[in-house]
Amino acid sequence: MIRKIGVLTSGGDSPGMNAAIRAVTKCALGNGIEVMGIKDGYRGLIENKIVPFDKSSVSDILSRGGTILGSARLPEFKEDATVVKACEILRANEIDALVVIGGDGSYRGAKALTDKGINCIGLPGTIDNDISGTDLTIGFDTALNTVVECVDKLRDTSSSHHRCSLVEVMGNHCGDLALYSGISCGAEIVITSETGYDEEEILDQLRYLDNLGKNHAIIVISEKICDVEGLAKKVSASTGFSGRATVLGHIQRGGSPTPNDRVLASRMGEKAVDLLVSGIGGHCVGTLNNEIVSLPINEALAMPKTSRKGLYRLFERLV
Ligand code: ADP
Repeated sequence: MIRKIGVLTSGGDSPGMNAAIRAVTKCALGNGIEVMGIKDGYRGLIENKIVPFDKSSVSDILSRGGTILGSARLPEFKEDATVVKACEILRANEIDALVVIGGDGSYRGAKALTDKGINCIGLPGTIDNDISGTDLTIGFDTALNTVVECVDKLRDTSSSHHRCSLVEVMGNHCGDLALYSGISCGAEIVITSETGYDEEEILDQLRYLDNLGKNHAIIVISEKICDVEGLAKKVSASTGFSGRATVLGHIQRGGSPTPNDRVLASRMGEKAVDLLVSGIGGHCVGTLNNEIVSLPINEALAMPKTSRKGLYRLFERLV
């Protein structure tokens, strides 16, 4: 029987985390369960930065980006002694179970705590959409909207100056943000870990587009693939376009969550509380075919990410 739960946000923040915190808090309070907000992820947990939450703690946060709880990284959480200490602090605060909102690293911490007797549920909070076991993560839709708005603006100015804009987007090692924004913006080239990186092929393609009379080109590139500044210089040197690199960076993490992210986060927060109430721990929540589902964290982490082959094919057909 669960009497008190904790909620924390961990790893990189994402828009919609607040909506998830709110849903967890409201659904738990509605079930007669006390809620404690844990600040700054696992770091705040072992520093005992824990405050009681009531309904007013989560009022007016639905539309706010970031996380009111703060987030942090604590590499020592991979060590058994730190997890043991965290359990002691949770028990001292009479916290029976925990909702962890974060990425796959945070899930591993949640699994470690569950193995030590504190049931934890993971919610996928990241703009990267790089978590297996879910079609979508909380924050991906908002980040996609931000990227699309930026790339649309870059296209306006690129076409005035016969430029090729090379836009680096986030995604960790997942190409979804690049692929979805490439399709949404009508990019000429998308480069991700799935497409691979062949510099000569990219330059050839740009020369071909230039010969066709195109007055601009957009290349959307996932982070961690290449040096976009260096590639932009090569574009200027060896194609008819003037290459300009734009690294969108942390702007993609900010902003008010889209309605889709707010709904997704709210549904997932509700599911987390329902799982804990039914005595389940060590699971993560996902959305598959628009159903909210849960599966053991270990299984989710071992699953291959859904293939986007069909979407890459579509992208090629639309260029
Ligand atoms: P994300 O959750 O966004 O993937 P990180 O990989 O940085 O971000 O993980 C967030 C935090 O989760 C880490 O700082 C650490 O405290 C905890 N964590 C990561 N990996 C593990 C692990 N293998 N075991 C226990 N805790 C972990």
